[in-house]
Amino acid sequence: MNAKTATVVSKTAKKKVVKTPKPLAKERVAAILDILAKTYPNVVCALNHRNAWELTIATILSAQCTDVRVNLVTPALFKAFPNPKAMASASLPELEELIRTTGFFRNKAKSIKGASQAVVEQFGGKVPQTMDEMLKLPGVARKTANVVLGSWYGIAVGVVVDTHVLRLSKRLELTKHDKPEKVEQDLIKIIPQDHWIQFSHELIHHGRQICIARNPKCAQCPMETLCNSGDKTWSSH
Ligand code: SF4
Repeated sequence: MNAKTATVVSKTAKKKVVKTPKPLAKERVAAILDILAKTYPNVVCALNHRNAWELTIATILSAQCTDVRVNLVTPALFKAFPNPKAMASASLPELEELIRTTGFFRNKAKSIKGASQAVVEQFGGKVPQTMDEMLKLPGVARKTANVVLGSWYGIAVGVVVDTHVLRLSKRLELTKHDKPEKVEQDLIKIIPQDHWIQFSHELIHHGRQICIARNPKCAQCPMETLCNSGDKTWSSH
């Protein structure tokens, strides 16, 4: 190898080392999706439910509360009020008592009673299957609607953005926004629609197990080489 060739090789090598994919580069996003799918195969919604209505109620109750806590509360709640009609006729104090431990129980009681009433009165007792109709239910915003449409009906009209999806999307530089609606719009643009439902489940699992809010377990993270988050606790690069 003469001196000229050596210089060219060295320049090329240097270029390869410093080149990092842009955060939203297709190949980087595809690599993240691939790792998540392999790490968390067949993950499902952690809220126990037997139908779309139960999932709607459980998701409303999960605001500012853990899924584990909601799962402790819902068996007695659905035993006492087993369908939308029964819950629509429940008194607020009765509902409040049953859901007290999920926090914000007064507002949540109003929401689950109101949502049940709307399901009975406006949708013939069946939870609707479109985003516009779901958003007519009291206490239901895009997150709850996306959970029910995606997890129960298999309809991908958006991406569920809960606290985990929001935090991880920022750490992985998939968004710069803080508002769930804007984060969802960013994710919709870069993630293929056939991944929308599973992506949220996977990210929520990753957020619970590895990429926790404080002291994420970066040394154990399969996406570590792709992550440049400022609050990493360990880095290989
Ligand atoms: S490397 Fe750390 S901060 Fe980045 S995704 Fe993994 S656990 Fe989260």
